[in-house]
Amino acid sequence: MGRIVRGLMANDTVKLMAITGKDICETARELHGLSRVCTAALGRSLLITDMMGAQLKGENDKLTTIIKGGGPAGNIVCTADNRGHVKGYIENPKLELPLNDSGKLDVSMAVGWFGELTVVRDLGLKEPYVGKSNMVSGEIAEDFAQYFTVSEQQPSMVYLGVRVDPHDGKVRAGGGLIVQPMPFCPDDVIDNIQDRVPMVKMLAGMLDDGIELEASLKKIFDGIDMTFTETMETGFRCDCTRERLERVLISLGRDELSDMIEKEHGAELTCHFCNKKYSFSEAELKGLLEEAGKAQ
Ligand code: ZN
Repeated sequence: MGRIVRGLMANDTVKLMAITGKDICETARELHGLSRVCTAALGRSLLITDMMGAQLKGENDKLTTIIKGGGPAGNIVCTADNRGHVKGYIENPKLELPLNDSGKLDVSMAVGWFGELTVVRDLGLKEPYVGKSNMVSGEIAEDFAQYFTVSEQQPSMVYLGVRVDPHDGKVRAGGGLIVQPMPFCPDDVIDNIQDRVPMVKMLAGMLDDGIELEASLKKIFDGIDMTFTETMETGFRCDCTRERLERVLISLGRDELSDMIEKEHGAELTCHFCNKKYSFSEAELKGLLEEAGKAQ
C-alpha cells in the first residue's frame, strides 16, 4: 500500500502534503499495459489526484482531474475519493517516445502543453465545482502548480516523480509533494523553501533507495521544523460494478439497445479505468431494453 502524509512546517506557516505510491503506479501499469513514458505520465497524474482527493471533506465526495495536453499520449483522466482510493487511465497507453535530452522519459512530449487542465470536485451537490487552467509544460507537476496558483489562488510548489526500471519497465518508486505557504508566511521562509527545489527533485530517488517518506521529507527540508498531522493508506482501486454498467447501457436508450440485440446479439463493455470486461447476453440486453422502456 502507498501512503499520504500531511504536515506543517516553519512554525505552522507552510502546509505540506506528500505521497509514496509505488503500488498505485505499478497497478496502473499492469492493468493498462502502460509503456514506460505512459507509466510516468499516468503515475504522476494518479499521485497528484490522490493527494487532492485526500483533501475532500465528505466520504462520498470525488475529485477528478482531466489533463488535455494535446500530446500523442492523449487525455489523462484520474478520480480519487478522500479515503486514499484512486483510479485513472491514459488514452494511448502503449505510446513509446525516445528519451529526452537529459536522458529521461519524455513525459512533456507525450502529454503536450497545448490544452487545459480541469479539476472537477463532485461534492454531492446539484452541480460539481469545476476549475481550469492552461497547461504550461506537460510535465504535470508544473501544470498543477500553475492550476493551484491561477485557479485556486494558492501559490504552490508541486513535485511528482515516478521511477521506472529501464530494463523491465516496472515501477521502482513513486513520490509526490505539495507545499503551500499560508498567506501570513514570511518571505524568508518562502525563499528557504524555494532553495530546496534540487533536493525536492530527489524524493522519488530517496524512496527508491528505501528511505521512508517522512525521513525523506525531513532530509529535503533539513533545518526547517516539521510536524506530521495525518497519515493515510492509499491504493489504486476501481469502483466499477456490473450494475453501474447496466445503467450505462440503459442510458444509451431503446434504439441503441435494440441495435445491439439485433446486430451483435450481446454486448461487451470495458471499464476505462481498470480494463475489466463485462459481457451482456442477448437475454440480459432484452431485460435492460424493458427497463429503458419504463424509464422513458
Ligand atoms: Zn473499473
